[in-house]
Amino acid sequence: MPLSARQQKIAEIVRQTGFITGQQIADALGLTRAALRSDLAILTMSGVLDARPRVGYYYTGKNTLGMLQEELSSITVEDIRSVPIVVSGDKNAYDAAVTMFLEDVGTLFVVEGTEGLLQGVISRKDLLKAAMNPGTDLHALPVVMVMTPLSKIVTISPEEPAAAAARRLIDNEIDCLPVVTVLEKQPKKLKVVGRVTKTNITRLLAELAEGKGGTYHS
Ligand code: ADP
Repeated sequence: MPLSARQQKIAEIVRQTGFITGQQIADALGLTRAALRSDLAILTMSGVLDARPRVGYYYTGKNTLGMLQEELSSITVEDIRSVPIVVSGDKNAYDAAVTMFLEDVGTLFVVEGTEGLLQGVISRKDLLKAAMNPGTDLHALPVVMVMTPLSKIVTISPEEPAAAAARRLIDNEIDCLPVVTVLEKQPKKLKVVGRVTKTNITRLLAELAEGKGGTYHS
């Protein structure tokens, strides 16, 4: 919630003065103490000001942008991830297209074995490209021929900040990141534990804007 002009003025007075009582703020603004009560309540509840008994109000140094940044930095990939939608590496491109429709997703992770180790990523466009090749039979085309292979895949870990996922999606111009835990570094063995898409990031933004950021830590 943005601060009103009067609330911003109060915050500025307190910032410049250091410690100041409610009565002194009221005097500076030519208002009564009672008229300021709700503004001071909002300023202390939102963390812009803090109050100490017998001393008065002081400025915490936080502005609303700083508070949003602080809130965001504590939200992790774990908090916003969706379940991964996968296709087994022994399936064909037609199976992959069917899974995309049934699961209503734009990206699939290709996995192998009982552990669900990441092998590749298939996007809508990968399938479209394959389908446009003259004479291609999607039923006869293994998914491993269509996917982006493991060596090129950009991933994220559950404990990384959600903002890092947003940055990685933008910088790599992709829609989806596999959320992985590293089982082995060399040779690379990644267990798929989730996915983060642009939709997860958009939902987070919408919920923060609606003041629901706190629900991520419950
Ligand atoms: P689309 O192009 O279908 O809208 P993307 O932009 O996500 O979907 O995919 C573009 C290309 O990047 C595709 O070839 C896809 O296989 C690949 N890709 C998708 N996600 C990743 C990822 N996390 N890491 C590396 N490559 C990816």
